[in-house]
Amino acid sequence: MTELLFRDDAYTRSCAAWVTAVDERGIRLDRTVFYPTGGGQPGDSGVLRLADGTTVDIVDTVKGDSADEVIHVPAPDAVPPQPGAEVTAEIDWERRHRLMRMHTCLHLLCAVVPGAVTGGSVGDGRGRLDFDVPGASLDKDAIAAGLNRLIAEGHAVAPRWIDDAELEAHPELVRTMSVKPPTGAGKIRLLEIAGVDLQPCGGTHVRNTAEIGPVEITKIENKGRQNRRINLAFVSS
Ligand SMILES: [Zn+2]
Repeated sequence: MTELLFRDDAYTRSCAAWVTAVDERGIRLDRTVFYPTGGGQPGDSGVLRLADGTTVDIVDTVKGDSADEVIHVPAPDAVPPQPGAEVTAEIDWERRHRLMRMHTCLHLLCAVVPGAVTGGSVGDGRGRLDFDVPGASLDKDAIAAGLNRLIAEGHAVAPRWIDDAELEAHPELVRTMSVKPPTGAGKIRLLEIAGVDLQPCGGTHVRNTAEIGPVEITKIENKGRQNRRINLAFVSS
């Protein structure tokens, strides 16, 4: 089990940690700022700095077998640290921040486009969501305008934890969510964009929609009779 520092503060770029295990899959730490691939968001890259000044390049981060287990994948030629070593774990912040901006932007897209989300992916500088939209084609310019308006309005973005009992006591929360949360899982992490979107999400996000910056809809594709794929990108990264 790894303490997941990005869950409470996505802006933490580095942390001190102990190496708890090393195997052919990668390196496990007692705590980390590295986000593992999941929820459509790619895993972080970065470095582990050892006490003697050497560094181990981390090229990817993935989930382990148990909940809250994070595996830091070293570069193929890297010499991994020994279990018990103290390291400073440092993410590639420029890349992560672009992923946070795009991830938050995809939440806004859910609020702009009517229809259930059937899939999606956060990329570096670009992203896409698939919507279950029957019949009529979507208006690219209208979607871009709606999205950029929500971005410019500067809505606050914050995680919010809720348990099953609270969810039961506030059914109006579920009605406003674009995705139904799993029940029976104990604590659920919701991502709230004040007055715009609320849904279960474990990813990393910016604090305010204004931080996303201008975006454009690059392409809307038909992926099956009821499936529309909306591709977007930053106007400038
Ligand atoms: Zn999210």
